[in-house]
Amino acid sequence: MLYQRSSQLFVAAEQVIPGGVNSPVRAFRAVGGTPIFMKSAKGAYLTDEDNKQYIDYINSWGPMILGHAHEPVVEAIVAKAKLGTSFGTPTELETKIAELAVSMVPNIDKIRFVNSGTEACMSAVRLARGYTKRDKIVKFSGCYHGHSDSFLIAAGSGAVTFGTPNSPGVTAGTAKDTILARYNDLDNVSEIIGQNQGEIAAIIIEPVAGNMGCIPPKQGFLQGLRNLCDANGILLIFDEVMTGFRLAKGGAQELFGIKADIVCFGKVIGGGLPVGAFAASSEIMNYLAPIGPVYQAGTLSGNPLAMAAGYAMLQAINADSGLFQRLEEKTAYLENGLRKVLSEKGIAYTINRVGSMISVHFDADPVYDFQTAAKGDNESFRKFFHGLLERGVYIAPSAYETWFLCDALTYEDLDDTIKAAAEVAETL
Ligand code: PMP
Repeated sequence: MLYQRSSQLFVAAEQVIPGGVNSPVRAFRAVGGTPIFMKSAKGAYLTDEDNKQYIDYINSWGPMILGHAHEPVVEAIVAKAKLGTSFGTPTELETKIAELAVSMVPNIDKIRFVNSGTEACMSAVRLARGYTKRDKIVKFSGCYHGHSDSFLIAAGSGAVTFGTPNSPGVTAGTAKDTILARYNDLDNVSEIIGQNQGEIAAIIIEPVAGNMGCIPPKQGFLQGLRNLCDANGILLIFDEVMTGFRLAKGGAQELFGIKADIVCFGKVIGGGLPVGAFAASSEIMNYLAPIGPVYQAGTLSGNPLAMAAGYAMLQAINADSGLFQRLEEKTAYLENGLRKVLSEKGIAYTINRVGSMISVHFDADPVYDFQTAAKGDNESFRKFFHGLLERGVYIAPSAYETWFLCDALTYEDLDDTIKAAAEVAETL
């Protein structure tokens, strides 16, 4: 029976783990059914506990840009593990990965490593507040910057999937310092700045939003934010947890030619191990402890295994001059194939894509912010998801997520995916 062992494992997990999962969106709540328990992965494929294989379009929610169990990354982890897994002292590798990241990403002089994207964004905001001596931040509805308190205000991803974009447990005191803006709406941001003169420390944004499906910034939007920040002494924080080392070597800053004041990383930078980082000019980064007043720390930050995985990953990306072009071409191929089969079946849809980030929305109108993303037909998405899953294609179990492609995908995999989508489209 399909998913038999996964179902059994889920029953056991639910007894001891809330909802059976350690991160909510894994639970399949939005699409129904039982989450699939994976036992291994290689290249573009996942294998579940019932030995069913899937072409993977989640890729651990972004990190596995070169495919699963990429040999140089695995070797680096194994070799490091034998030398001890944590010392609580500096190690040479931390400087090496920092040097490499700084050389790949524009507009940063120094970087600090943490253990998750959440920590990166949370620390970036504290740094921005310390540096500007202001309290308020602006975030965009439907953007997700991790689960720390100040970001769980109209948050995207699992928070909105499960109906808690504003989580209980976040105090009114915290919430009042987070001001919400509409994605892709410069006038709205301008108005907010006008109403909070001299009080806003930072605007934090996903330069390509990936937590309400994939939403590209409109032409001029990011430059407009840059200008508003410059004119008002506000720091611009790019949350590049998804886009960093994925849209280009230098992430969205490089792709769009826009300078951010602080950049947050996660996912790809850790090569599949728990790593986040935030980076900026020396002037801003020197505000951090131990040389500056803004405190931030971590027992396992810069952990040798995590740094080994991240360093091997960044080296592989840095050495491969054709990587981002290949990813662009593969994802464009998938996009065109999906457009063709959905159009042929007369289905109302919108596909958004930037590089190897792509999302399918079941709504014919343009999707450019949270409101337009929320209009999609959930029932069609649910059927689409399960139809693909049965046919061995694994996409994110929520319409508020982006698909991430990896370089290990072959054109045969993409053709198989398009064929599966055509079959599923019949049933929508
Ligand atoms: N920022 C963005 C843009 C994200 O997509 C995510 C997670 N999907 C985070 C921050 C939080 O990262 P983490 O889950 O590693 O804490």
